[in-house]
Amino acid sequence: MSAAAAAGAAAPSAAAIAAAVRSGERTAGGVLDASLAAIAAGDGEVHAFLHVASDAARADAEAVDAAVTAGRDPGPLAGVPVALKDNLCTRGVPTTCASKILDGWVPPYDATVVERLRAAGAVVVGKTNMDEFAMGSSTENSAVGPTRHPKDRTRVPGGSSGGSAAAVAAGFVPVGLGSDTGGSVRQPAALCGTVGLKPTYGVVSRYGLVAFASSLDQIGPMTTTVADAALVLEVIAGHDRRDSTSLAEPPPPAGRSLDRGVEGLRIGLCRELVDGTAPDVAARVREAVEALAAAGATVEEVSVPEMRYGLSAYYLIAPAEASSNLARYDGVRYGLRVDAPDVASMNTATRTAGFGPEVKRRIMLGTYALSAGYYDAYYGKAQRVRTLMIEAFARAYATVDVLVGATAPTTAFPLGERVDDPMAMYMSDVCTIPSNLAGHPAISVPFGSGADGLPVGVQVLAPALGEERMFQVAAAVERAAAERRGTAGAGEAGA
Ligand code: GLN
Repeated sequence: MSAAAAAGAAAPSAAAIAAAVRSGERTAGGVLDASLAAIAAGDGEVHAFLHVASDAARADAEAVDAAVTAGRDPGPLAGVPVALKDNLCTRGVPTTCASKILDGWVPPYDATVVERLRAAGAVVVGKTNMDEFAMGSSTENSAVGPTRHPKDRTRVPGGSSGGSAAAVAAGFVPVGLGSDTGGSVRQPAALCGTVGLKPTYGVVSRYGLVAFASSLDQIGPMTTTVADAALVLEVIAGHDRRDSTSLAEPPPPAGRSLDRGVEGLRIGLCRELVDGTAPDVAARVREAVEALAAAGATVEEVSVPEMRYGLSAYYLIAPAEASSNLARYDGVRYGLRVDAPDVASMNTATRTAGFGPEVKRRIMLGTYALSAGYYDAYYGKAQRVRTLMIEAFARAYATVDVLVGATAPTTAFPLGERVDDPMAMYMSDVCTIPSNLAGHPAISVPFGSGADGLPVGVQVLAPALGEERMFQVAAAVERAAAERRGTAGAGEAGA
């Protein structure tokens, strides 16, 4: 099978696979074979994976099949192949963050999400490509070369979780895990045409996620259906004493209201998440909102002007935290070491050789923002903007249940287009960053395509712990997208 065929194939959902494996209709081993065959046939061109862990995956699958044979319940994700972004620690399997500085490092432990996925019967197939240390929006900042968009090899898949998004969009696996600090799950999901979720901060444990900006990072799934995203969230969510920011309270319900419809819900079409997006993207967002109105929701236009400061605040806070988090890569504790006559020059030589240009840019930016005399003016001020953002969202949610807007300002852009223009690259996340600053959940759902025929994502945002409502609306957007596919045929109006 070619990657193109794989990209076009309607792969079964995680829920369908798990049901088939639990009932004995399919084996986890058979499901894994199909996944590995699709990767072998298509990933040479897509380059979604950095490492395919066939042996470990085989052991996972055998354990699931043994449970079924023994009459034990293998769990809600029985036999579901999962791809993990390469910043999630996997015991015995290399974890590189697509950086040379972690060359050769093999974690001695699994991330909590990995433990929970496996306990639910999932089969970890491998580790996916990303922007180095999750810094980027196209996966072009990977030290080992970019991932290509499965539907158009001349384009980027988005980033920084581009490998996981591409692996799902190409039909290699039904579930990918990514991390979302400023949009890195939702933006590549939108560009590749998958569902992508960032949960409320603290709902999913960050234990074993290599830290980028600890106050913003959340792990989230990429899937082919909204129901699968809810299913995976239910598996990975919940308190973990190994993450001090993990919420003590029980996680919010996720998949409970998917079929309830949106009758009576109040939807805010968020002006700041439409204005400034490409005309074809804005048109799809408006059509999605019209479909929600037709399904019985009340729609009003809402403005959250403070969102305009999100990007500026993010590019102080995220680099500041990153500069601190990345201080640990010193040539002593992890991966790469470049020898030099004394320790200080060994540190410098290692970091000079090990980090790529974008990571260095962030470390310098963050170190500057935190330095004496500048801390209040930059980092402190950005933190105050963050508070303003939370207050602004609270005002909006006093009148509406959820906000709807674009996930990304454009569809997938050509490889190379933004690599020399950091501002243009940073703008890719202008619609996703506000939810990270506020710690709120948000999900991207595929809704039609742009003038170029490539997917558009519609974003549904909700207040903290508002996952249930968010999923309820997301499911309605997904139904509307399916209806319009049924009626619109192949062609898609440009604007
Ligand atoms: N693209 C944004 C950045 O480069 C967000 C990255 C992320 O969410 N990990 O920082």
